Amino acid sequence: MLDVRTIFHEPSVPDHPRGAQVLARFPDAERVEVPSHQQVPGLYGNPGGVQDWIRNKRQVLVLGEKKSLSARPNGRSADFIAPSTSNGCAMACAYCYVPRRKGYANPITVFVNVDRIARYLEGHVRRQGPKPQPNQCDPVDWVYDVGENGDCSVDALVSDNVRDLVDLFGRLDGAKASFATKFVNRDLLGWEPHGGTRVRFSLMPAERARLLDLRTTPVAERIAAIDDFVAAGYEVHLNLSPVVVHEGWQEEWRELLRQVADGVGPAARAQLAAEIIFLTHHEGLHEVNLGWHPQAEEWLWRPDLQEPKRSQSGQDNVRYRAAWKARWVQQLREMVAEELPGCRIRYAF
Ligand code: SF4
Repeated sequence: MLDVRTIFHEPSVPDHPRGAQVLARFPDAERVEVPSHQQVPGLYGNPGGVQDWIRNKRQVLVLGEKKSLSARPNGRSADFIAPSTSNGCAMACAYCYVPRRKGYANPITVFVNVDRIARYLEGHVRRQGPKPQPNQCDPVDWVYDVGENGDCSVDALVSDNVRDLVDLFGRLDGAKASFATKFVNRDLLGWEPHGGTRVRFSLMPAERARLLDLRTTPVAERIAAIDDFVAAGYEVHLNLSPVVVHEGWQEEWRELLRQVADGVGPAARAQLAAEIIFLTHHEGLHEVNLGWHPQAEEWLWRPDLQEPKRSQSGQDNVRYRAAWKARWVQQLREMVAEELPGCRIRYAF
């Protein structure tokens, strides 16, 4: 997954314990000091960089400090989006929204001041008090998404940031961490989550994943890991996303749900829930993808099925046409009810 050759870092990073730890983990990497993790000359904003899309993800790390900390209210998958301890990703899903913000390169950036982020989160949880009523995120706990801008299972290959968060939420009453992942990192099975972390394994039909989820763990292995993560003390949910519509998509998704039904034991089934997210796409990302993975765009860029939509965060996206999508969402809900009875759908859109 990673063969780190170059580490761009802010000047303060070597003096920070977590920064020093990451630098020591990759002793042969060239170190390049940069003024800010957002200003890496030659990496971001370099249209030529799209040709090195995968190479940058495998060979480059960026280290810096997260300056402003806030937990953003969310209300869909989580009650709050936690301040990130990283962004970017070493995997390369063609539909990934993370690079829409970064442009032309999207390697992992690790924030080394995780101690400050953890203190902030602890205070934030304390200020909430008990959750007044159940909601779609969780019946009891406040849920904090700790992996909005990357994949925590891969981040755990780089630093102990994710482990620190899992430990933190294992100790905190009334709150849990949550992250979606497409990578099975069995190191996490040796940690002690104590039910304080929800891992959402992202699934899509294997045939589609082979083309669209590049560098990720094969879907069958993700399903096979579910029981192990539940046994290790994680809550495990399904992140059924993105649903990519094409002729025959329903049969593929039914087959996937059957694979889950066959592959998951009673303990995992008893706690299982799912979220369903249909693909949204973006013209800028479409252009970037044409530069490195044009076959993916034959599936993702479907103007005959899609229409413009402004996202919650103000981005001009495209999504499947509303009336058709409403019908497809309902079809998939019904399929989950038939193939995985008892699996609650936390939300679908
Ligand atoms: S695993 Fe997630 S963050 Fe990484 S490339 Fe895929 S969608 Fe993006």
